[in-house]
Amino acid sequence: MEAILEKLREILKPEQIIENADMSRHTSFKAGGCADVLVCPSDAEQLQKVLAVLSGVPHMVLGNGSNVLVRDGGYRGVIVKIGDDFSYINREENRLICGAGTLMSAVARRAASEGLTGFEFASGIPGSIGGAVFMNAGAYGGETKDILEEAHVISADGSRQSTMTAEELQMGYRHTALHETGDVVTEVVLKLEEGDEEEIRNEMAELAKKRNSKQPVQYPSAGSFFKRPEGYFAGKLVQDAGCKGLSVGDAEVSTLHSGFIINKGNATATDITQLKELVQARVMEQFGVMLEPEVRIIGEEPEGAADAVSGEAVGTVDDYVMTYDLHTHTTYSHGKGSVEDNVKVAIDKGLEYIAISDHGPGHLFYGIKRSEIPNFKKDIERMTEKYPQISVRASVEANILHAQPGTDHANGLDIRPDEIDEFDFIIAGFHFGCLNCSSVKNWMWTHGFKAGEESLRKSNTKMVTDALRLNDIAILTHPGDKGPFDIPEIAKVCAETGTLIEINGRHGHLTTEEIKEAMKVEGLEFVISSDAHTPDAVGSFKAALQRALDAGLDISRIVNIKGAEG
Ligand SMILES: Cc1cc2nc3c(=O)[nH]c(=O)nc-3n(C[C@H](O)[C@H](O)[C@H](O)COP(=O)(O)OP(=O)(O)OC[C@H]3O[C@@H](n4cnc5c(N)ncnc54)[C@H](O)[C@@H]3O)c2cc1C
Repeated sequence: MEAILEKLREILKPEQIIENADMSRHTSFKAGGCADVLVCPSDAEQLQKVLAVLSGVPHMVLGNGSNVLVRDGGYRGVIVKIGDDFSYINREENRLICGAGTLMSAVARRAASEGLTGFEFASGIPGSIGGAVFMNAGAYGGETKDILEEAHVISADGSRQSTMTAEELQMGYRHTALHETGDVVTEVVLKLEEGDEEEIRNEMAELAKKRNSKQPVQYPSAGSFFKRPEGYFAGKLVQDAGCKGLSVGDAEVSTLHSGFIINKGNATATDITQLKELVQARVMEQFGVMLEPEVRIIGEEPEGAADAVSGEAVGTVDDYVMTYDLHTHTTYSHGKGSVEDNVKVAIDKGLEYIAISDHGPGHLFYGIKRSEIPNFKKDIERMTEKYPQISVRASVEANILHAQPGTDHANGLDIRPDEIDEFDFIIAGFHFGCLNCSSVKNWMWTHGFKAGEESLRKSNTKMVTDALRLNDIAILTHPGDKGPFDIPEIAKVCAETGTLIEINGRHGHLTTEEIKEAMKVEGLEFVISSDAHTPDAVGSFKAALQRALDAGLDISRIVNIKGAEG
């Protein structure tokens, strides 16, 4: 870092470089650790030079910090703040040309005083206009893309400046191409329309009133914590999962708006991320929906949590891609699409390899029928011929049962060893809905009847470890789901038997805490699976990867995730 600092000092004045910067002072959550270095370039020219110096060095751009949380262990790298020096507004006809650091509130005031309409929806969104472009921030039916004519950007490596239209920025729901390119916005051109100043002011006042009555604006937060999942409202899911008012330390799910996590005073970033996980787990458990944070969470876990860290997790989910997905379902069990539907999505998403792994035949409600296994295999063969660009494999997600010698499930699975040979490989997990697996006790445990928890944990753990030792199981699916399990013990046996332990995108297990436990086991490898039950979910990996990143897992231990660049 000293060498980088030397180079930065050649470009910036001493007061533009802050070492060991307390990020709780630069983010709206007012929580979190320090960044090694925070720099505040004063114009595009300086910024370009800074970015060139930082090429290949971990760094991140910060606007007003209204959508960023830095973990308590701090950020190992350089934060580049686009701040006050980038704050200006000029009018040209009906356009407002704004420096990227200009606050949305300032743009709103200027738009109103100029009698320009179109910005009203955004008037109460905290943050800078550069951050709003990056996030495609929106509210009350409007989005930044609706009023953006173009943005001036500097490439992530500082090599060039260019101008991009909203279309070129591919602005979608809380996403733009900037998430992938890392280009930095320096100036924004907003296209508004002539309007009536009083009407504009009235509309802004009306929306502010709405916001102030519905959002806990008096507490530090980063706004809505989670993205809106397709077909749902995040806040409603959180509320319906019984999380309203839930707290960890001083972090609380707002009682006014369940989509907000607020800092009631002295919340740490760890309080906030733990609460986030609790909420994600409850929503997943009850509604099968994995909530993805809208807030950008960066940095490292604090010391102590770091004891469990076996490698260095870097970047965000957007820095990685999935190479294969070995856990997907079709109508052969209770998936919604055909084998071909799943394969087509896998090809579209650039996967090299997909396995169809419908539920084992012992499931009382939706296991694959034994009589259908030959058709299933024929379907896979057809796919292999029709789509040579992708490898398609036949698998099954066997149900783990108590191994009972002398019975059909002496091997602890709902398929016999001779049936296993029908498949390219098998994966296995614990599910309710089968005989001989303590379904009822586990169902009651997940519904709050915790009596006998320890003996249930013991027998569940033995059930799983027996199955692992008695069979050649490629992947242990969603361990920790649907009952109490001893994850460290299970992880140890997975490592012994060469079984991949799954971070499941649909079920929320392994949870971040479980990953931290599991990753202490040397030699254990992880796999991320979508567990897709609808074709569109094939290849989904980001929610699961986010947990791995939150846990600080060395991503090279996940066999099917690689850097987006290579
Ligand atoms: C009380 C509250 C209410 C909120 N309400 C809303 C709402 O209604 N709608 C909504 O969409 N959001 C809302 N938010 C979230 C937040 O205000 C927006 O996401 C905002 O656009 C973030 O801007 P920022 O400048 O603070 O960005 P930051 O939080 O600093 O950064 C957010 C992301 O943008 C990137 N970024 C920032 N500036 C630039 C730049 N110049 N060039 C490239 N990348 C950049 C950062 O790297 C980071 O990844 C709310 C937040 C709070 C605290």
